[in-house]
Amino acid sequence: MTMKTIGLIGGMSWESSLEYYRIINETVKTRLGGLHSAKSLMFSFDFEEIEQLQHAGNWAEATRMMIQAGRQLERGGADFVIICTNTMHKMADDVQAAITIPLLHIADATAEAIRAQGLNKIGLLGTNFTMEEAFYKGRLTDKFGLDVLVPARPERQVVHDIIYDELCLGVTKPDSRAQYRQIMAEMVAAGAEGIILGCTEIGLLVNQEDSSVPLFDTTVIHAETAVAYALT
Ligand code: GLU
Repeated sequence: MTMKTIGLIGGMSWESSLEYYRIINETVKTRLGGLHSAKSLMFSFDFEEIEQLQHAGNWAEATRMMIQAGRQLERGGADFVIICTNTMHKMADDVQAAITIPLLHIADATAEAIRAQGLNKIGLLGTNFTMEEAFYKGRLTDKFGLDVLVPARPERQVVHDIIYDELCLGVTKPDSRAQYRQIMAEMVAAGAEGIILGCTEIGLLVNQEDSSVPLFDTTVIHAETAVAYALT
């Protein structure tokens, strides 16, 4: 069989890119057996540079860098690309427009997984960018008709700060897990039938045991979607 080469735009943070790499290879091994592993290329950013651009609102420069990474992966032989962070899907359309190979969008893969389970009202956790802006929340509602709930402003800041101050540094604290559990429980009380772990590091902190409703871990869903596509 022929297997497509996956291009990963990663390093945002590398803590979650490691998960992508592991899940992608384990999924190929499960599906093909033997010594099979995924064909892949990764462009891994220095996340300090990216984080500074994000928080300074310099999205033009961030977009330029993301496009450059996508083009490098294409030139290197990738058959398609995935962006290994929800937040940086803010410029997914720009990256797609600048390359000739497909980009598999993390929110589309996640929305399809949610719809496959017949759920409609869904909680969303991620960075403030992801929880508040049209590129992500809007895509879930407009393109897939999902009813998306996000935490209130103070809780959103807690979720956001734990991502940048802890999870992207590989730090997982019991206190932070308790805060995420509480915030998820509040979304369930508000009617969420499932919750999107819409930041690729959140799966390092919480898992299905922390929630009474199904969790949709975007890292796992996106990595598995990439393998499914690579094997078609
Ligand atoms: N990995 C995170 C996400 O999925 C946050 C890091 C970033 O800002 O890219 O959104």
